[in-house]
Order: sequence, then structure tokens, then C-alpha cells
Amino acid sequence: MNVFLRLATDLLNLLFPRLCNACFGYLVQGERNICTNCLHDLPYTDYHLHNENRAAKQFWGRLPCKAVTAMLYFRKGSRVQRLLHRLKYSGQIDLGLELGQLLGERLRAGGRYAEIELVLAVPLHPKRERMRGYNQSVCIADGVAACLNVPVLTGVLCKHRATSSQTRKGRFSRYENLKDVFEVRDTGAIRGKQILLIDDVITTGATIEACGQVLYDAGIESLSIAAIAFTE
Ligand SMILES: [Zn+2]
Repeated sequence: MNVFLRLATDLLNLLFPRLCNACFGYLVQGERNICTNCLHDLPYTDYHLHNENRAAKQFWGRLPCKAVTAMLYFRKGSRVQRLLHRLKYSGQIDLGLELGQLLGERLRAGGRYAEIELVLAVPLHPKRERMRGYNQSVCIADGVAACLNVPVLTGVLCKHRATSSQTRKGRFSRYENLKDVFEVRDTGAIRGKQILLIDDVITTGATIEACGQVLYDAGIESLSIAAIAFTE
């Protein structure tokens, strides 16, 4: 960067300081959306290195998965919660990309994701996506796919019915609530493929389970799952 451009950037940062999306401290040159301290100290799960991790166990007996991982532990009031909140409600599309790249680097290192052919994201209802302007899971998927060097397919897995709030429901009624909510619009695009499905956070796994069922019904070869965070 030449000296004038650097001075201009410094001046802009002074007038409009950029803040870390996790701790709200000031970002410095070279930091993108998350400060170096937070990047270093976030509660990483290392689930990508372990087949039988707790996120994977959530789907045992519910959905056949080739591999399941989530990058960070999610706790209430934590930096991870702030990151995901910023990603969802503050238009931080580049934060989604950066988190996706961090996740993608781990998937590449983990090795069990080497045969992935297509990346899909858990869809939002079209009305909600229009209101928000983007689907945060697609931003994450874009970052992951760039790392794995495979395409992201949007508009194939779709949500065609809005769901009522899930917070007070048990696991079974959550799944019942989600049955028939998702559909595959172009089965030819995914039939016989090894799919990686991306979500922002795995909580009960009901959403992913419902998506997974329609993907298997559409004839996919295998399903792997990756999320930014896992609720303990
Ligand atoms: Zn920070």
C-alpha cells in the first residue's frame, strides 16, 4: 500500500473507527472483522478432528451424516453469540465470509471433507431473506466453498413455509413443526452428489434434520454438515 493510501486509510479509521464484531474493541490495519486477540482466544471445538464429536452425536439415529462439525462453542452472552448476532442482524456479509473461510480451513485440514462436490446453505423463508437482504448461512457457505474449491448452489434447497417460533417446543414437536417446510426445487442438480450443508449454529439439529431428509429424498449420495457454532 502506498504511503498516501495508508494515511487516508488511517484517517478514515480515526474518523470512523472499525470495531471487532466479537469484543467491540478497535480493529487495526490488517484486521478484517474480528481482532487478532479474539481470533486467537475464541472457544474452538476442534470437532473437525474427531469423528464422534458432540455435534455429530446429535444426529445419531436421526439422520445419516458422513461428517459433522461446528467450529466454536456457543454460550449465552459470549463473544460467539455477539459474532452470530452481528452476522444475522447487522448486514455484516464480510464477517460471514471470514467465518466461512476460518471454517473452510478447518474442513480442509480435517480431511473428511475432501470429497465434497457441492455446498448448500440452510435456506431462509424468501420473505425473511428479502427483509434481511441476505441469508447469513449463504455468506458462510461462500467462504467455506472458496476454501474447498467447490461451488455453492442456491435456490435448489428452499424453504416454502414460515415456521412458528421454536423456542418453547421440545425436540419432537420442533421436528414436526419443520416437516414439509423445506423442498428441493431441482433434484437433477444434486442427485448422486456428495453434499455439504452449512448452517450458522446447531442447537437442536431439527432444522438440519428436516433439510437432510428432503436432500436424501432427492437422491444425494452423502450429507456432511458444518456450522460456525454448537450450543452445548
Ligand atoms: Zn475482538
